Amino acid sequence: MRIAVVKGDGIGEEVIPGAVRVLERYAPDAEYFEVEVGYGKWKKCGVGCSDEDIESLRGADSILFGAITTPPDPGYKSIMLKIRHELGLYANLRPVYGDGFNIMVVRENSEGLYSGIEEIGDTRSTTLRVVTKTASERIARCACEILLKDFKGGTLTIGNKANAIKSDVLFRDTCIEVANDMGVPYRTSYIDALTFDAIQNPHRYDVIVTTNVFGDILSDALGHLVGGLGMLPSANIGDDCALFEPVHGSAPDIAGKGIANPIAAIRSAGMLLEYNGISCYDEIEDAIIEVISSGTKTPDLGGTADTVSFCDVLMDRLD
Ligand code: NAD
Repeated sequence: MRIAVVKGDGIGEEVIPGAVRVLERYAPDAEYFEVEVGYGKWKKCGVGCSDEDIESLRGADSILFGAITTPPDPGYKSIMLKIRHELGLYANLRPVYGDGFNIMVVRENSEGLYSGIEEIGDTRSTTLRVVTKTASERIARCACEILLKDFKGGTLTIGNKANAIKSDVLFRDTCIEVANDMGVPYRTSYIDALTFDAIQNPHRYDVIVTTNVFGDILSDALGHLVGGLGMLPSANIGDDCALFEPVHGSAPDIAGKGIANPIAAIRSAGMLLEYNGISCYDEIEDAIIEVISSGTKTPDLGGTADTVSFCDVLMDRLD
């Protein structure tokens, strides 16, 4: 197995080494190689992610990815969007679970408001929101398969805003067609009310399928249920490649302090291993819960541990 490791920028550089320790524990024979992409690289050499970097990433069975900074400069194109697009990573799976609830947000990852089709002006700027039948069918099928496999007896929630955004009519109706086809129980829900309700009543939800930006915002908001963004892992799945990354960004406000919570990155590593047939997520999860319960936690969870010492204690626990 070939695993590409991208630390990226900011706290990406701090949380990924701990996640690599977990990877190496369960997949000692895998071939690991680092690929440098991100804003830091762009500042050094004017290119944040070259065609060669994309080819290196394409050559991996899976990618462990930290986080990268996107500066608020209209001329700067998002590297993350480029990678997702070039590698065909169309499904973004974001599990959020805790006491009494288990939710999988399945986010369409290839189009919607992140289409990249934009016209930026001084007095008027537009971004084209693209919804296609093909991509909607593909993500709906992916969500239904997850529900049938891992959420037996559950319901698919189709998060949309079809009342106000007409492109969502196609998304919603295509998801309904696929759910009917696959014999999956479903309900439709407007994304704003859904977000509020899922935070208040998370036990009501199983798999939620939605469009790109809605899925991004919904999953961050659900982070409130589990202690924050430092806890949320994710998988970006394509037909030929898969990339695993924490949901959070490069967190410039705490970068360099060594206090970032590595759990999201470690859980992402666990998802990578499971995806590649190494069954260990539950074992890693049990160890994380034990370490937190014993009082070792980073400041975002109310503790005083730094990133490295949390990882040291976790590795001891796993051993
Ligand atoms: P962010 O997720 O980086 O940070 C939001 C808040 O959560 C901050 O207060 C931060 O300190 C905290 N936080 C995040 N992860 C944490 C962790 N592991 N431990 C403790 N606290 C944590 O979001 P932002 O501030 O909106 O974005 C910062 C940069 O990251 C921007 O340039 C943005 O474009 C980029 N970003 C990248 C990705 C990605 O690479 N996939 C995703 C989101 C944001």
